[in-house]
Amino acid sequence: MKKKNIDWGNIGFGYMPADKRFVANYKDGAWDEGGLIDDPMITISECAGVLQYAQTCFEGLKAYTTEDGRTVCFRPDLNASRMADSCRALEMPVFPEDRFLEAVKAVVKANLAYVPPFGSGATLYIRPYMFGSNAVIGVKPADEYQFRIFVTPVGPYFKGGAKPITIRVSDFDRAAPHGTGNIKAGLNYAMSLHAIVDAHAKGFDENMYLDPQTRTKVEETGGANFIFITKDNKLVTPKSDSILPSITRRSLMYVAEHYLNMEVEHREVFFDEVKDFAECGLCGTAAVISPVGKIVDHGKEICLPSGMEEMGPVTRKLYDTLTGIQMGHIEAPEGWITVID
Ligand SMILES: *Cc1c(COP(=O)(O)O)cnc(C)c1O
Repeated sequence: MKKKNIDWGNIGFGYMPADKRFVANYKDGAWDEGGLIDDPMITISECAGVLQYAQTCFEGLKAYTTEDGRTVCFRPDLNASRMADSCRALEMPVFPEDRFLEAVKAVVKANLAYVPPFGSGATLYIRPYMFGSNAVIGVKPADEYQFRIFVTPVGPYFKGGAKPITIRVSDFDRAAPHGTGNIKAGLNYAMSLHAIVDAHAKGFDENMYLDPQTRTKVEETGGANFIFITKDNKLVTPKSDSILPSITRRSLMYVAEHYLNMEVEHREVFFDEVKDFAECGLCGTAAVISPVGKIVDHGKEICLPSGMEEMGPVTRKLYDTLTGIQMGHIEAPEGWITVID
């Protein structure tokens, strides 16, 4: 496979169209066969359900080249089932999970020239998404949908290594109890944009959202779950019905327990406890783990003992083990790696 002539070490985290994308259409109660197309543009009704009432959800995963030269994906079955959950919550038709997996493989295979080489730090980001495409003016679910997958090569999320970040406790809420916080809906992101622009303007890298009902418990950030390490070496991750179930977080819990012999607690985490933790990180597909060095709660600073220079030692072990599994130099649990080529 001849790779595209791209400066892999210097691409950012942006959109660069690849050659092929997958499209399937839902009409009259059924999905069509779908297939790969060339055109990156979409033409839909000015009154499409997605444009008027934000009926859309998405997924995010990566394909990459392992040390021994295979092109693989990490746990795409979990993206398939999570997208099915998102669709059910938004009254959208589920794109069958087996077909989702076949479509992911087909798009990556058709764009192998865009899968960055091993060691470049870059990966191929895969974006499955679905939206209501026919005209909807009275408020109701659309009758027609498109399911699409595009891919785009992306650079390492952190150029020059992951420096600890500073986050603030947000006065804005991300997701209501019993709302849409646990699904990957575009609407959760639309309303986080003001909060993140405001955070950046005030010198913070991210928002820590607390539970909106009591403002006493840690939920997550706009696009990543929290992990905490206790002073006695336990992994603690917040549990709530309005947190998006991160695949990275679920994988890290498994790695902590089965590879690093750590105790793992998935439970409610009170903000009052945060000052007692040894390490803190944000986890998600894009960066795997971003270490948090400082948390600011309305002027009161919590400085994690791991400091502002580098990842804490336990976070580092978790990061190295999970990325080692992904890149193929540590043996993966059964079913975690899907080989594409
Ligand atoms: C996608 C997402 C995450 C991270 O999930 P991964 O499956 O680990 O990529 C975390 N929080 C929110 C709100 C998300 O949308």
